Amino acid sequence: MGITRLAAACLARPSLFIVGATAAAVAMACVAAVALYEMRQDAFARARDSAENLSLILQRDIERNIEVYELSLEAAIDGVKEPAILHLPPAIRQRVLFDRSTNAQDIGSLFVTNAVGDVVFESRFATPRRLNLSDRDYFAIHQRSADAGLFISKPFSPHVTKAETSIGLSQRLTDSQGHFAGVVAGTLRLNYFRRLFDGMTLGDHGSITLIQSDGTVLMRRPYKREDIGQSIAGVPSFEPLIQSDNGCYIGTATLDGAQRLYSFRRIGKYPLIVVVGLALQDIYAQWTQRAWAIGGVVTVLDVLIIWMSVMFARLFRKRLEMENRLHLLATTDSLTGVGNRRVLSSTLETEWKRASRDGRSLSVLMLDADNFKALNDRHGHAIGDEALKAIAQCITKNIRRPGDFVGRYGGEEFSVLLPSTDMKGAIKIAENIRAAVMATELAGMGAQPVPLSVSIGVATFDGMGSPAETSEQLLRKADHSLYQAKAAGRNTIMPRQTHGEAAMVGDPWPST
Ligand code: GH3
Ligand code: MG
Ligand code: MG
Repeated sequence: MGITRLAAACLARPSLFIVGATAAAVAMACVAAVALYEMRQDAFARARDSAENLSLILQRDIERNIEVYELSLEAAIDGVKEPAILHLPPAIRQRVLFDRSTNAQDIGSLFVTNAVGDVVFESRFATPRRLNLSDRDYFAIHQRSADAGLFISKPFSPHVTKAETSIGLSQRLTDSQGHFAGVVAGTLRLNYFRRLFDGMTLGDHGSITLIQSDGTVLMRRPYKREDIGQSIAGVPSFEPLIQSDNGCYIGTATLDGAQRLYSFRRIGKYPLIVVVGLALQDIYAQWTQRAWAIGGVVTVLDVLIIWMSVMFARLFRKRLEMENRLHLLATTDSLTGVGNRRVLSSTLETEWKRASRDGRSLSVLMLDADNFKALNDRHGHAIGDEALKAIAQCITKNIRRPGDFVGRYGGEEFSVLLPSTDMKGAIKIAENIRAAVMATELAGMGAQPVPLSVSIGVATFDGMGSPAETSEQLLRKADHSLYQAKAAGRNTIMPRQTHGEAAMVGDPWPST
């Protein structure tokens, strides 16, 4: 029912099609926008999970390896404190002091020095090389402070091998009185971190950075030699890294300027932080493709819907115009533009019923052009037609109330329906029409003035008629009055006005 009504409303006002289609197009665009927004949020959430997982895996791997390294250093410290071990033959002592884990890939020699920095034991050789490590930063630090614990140095290229950049891991040696007695130190090649980072799936523009808590970069993927050892302390993206043990944030990388989602974790108790960065460009790459595809389809559909609605609206508008034209053709008299005989009959019937129902009066005027045959004969049918149009205009100008109606009864005869109008009022209107017709100036053959006049018969139904009375009878009464008006000499109204005020009678047709 609702749809039928809607369809009917659309048919009556075709622009509603466009309004409806535009609303549908906007709704579709909104639904697509919401769906895309949610897809974007999902992509971000997934990326955050994988960044956090990656940072966790890296943190655990690095922490475990450093722990193993620390245990090796501690084993060496315990060993050198044991006089029995120190008195073993050098080859056996070497094996007791340094376990086999020190031979692992990317781990350099472990050294034990005395208090002045001379190497006294070395993991790779039973007889240590002649080296002095007193110029190293870690040596000075352990010498100065007893509680440095496991010290991780800045990156450097080792003296011994001049091999790849490494970091030094060292612990202090103390004698039985608690005095500084040297250091146990070893190197870890940064290559370990590089291989570890390269094994991760990151996306084309992702990054992994291992930094010391003072901001020194130890390793970075993508790898650039010059990044190693650089300090990022002081840049805004460094601040969040030292404020908690782990976290997630979006930031712009200092080293390459890319926008990334970062997940960072501190490596256990060590002053190291691993930062995994997934580039927003990678995170949203798939989403961006889908957004273009979905956006494109929705736009095409929206344009199609609106275009079709415009076409429909145009079609229906044309149809409506045609229907209106047909309706006009079916209801109006083509020559004069007033209602035709068919509409006159139906309107009379309707008004009659309304008047009977409401007990209101209904007046009918019957008009007939006087001596019209003679007019036609003298001036031709074309002028006769003009005269009929002029008469129709005189009538329409003088009936102004909404319910008033004029129709062509036939030939040179017109009928006027005046609802809620009594006889007196009807006669007044008839008089106005008669006078207007009389005053009409129409040029005929040879520019001779065409004399125009009408005779009008008036009949009124007072709204109290008997059920047997019909609208036809009212029309016949008016016709009878018209006949009387003709008989009374034309250019007059019948019945005439009461209280002695006779309708004006004149003869526009002087006998020649
Ligand atoms: P009366 O005063 O008694 O009414 O005389 P009359 O000549 O007007 O009456 P009659 O019925 O004899 O003639 C009516 C004429 O009206 C006949 C016809 O030629 C003319 N007529 C009817 N319809 C049209 C029309 O549409 N155009 C023209 N030009 N003349 C019409
Ligand atoms: Mg006639
Ligand atoms: Mg006539």
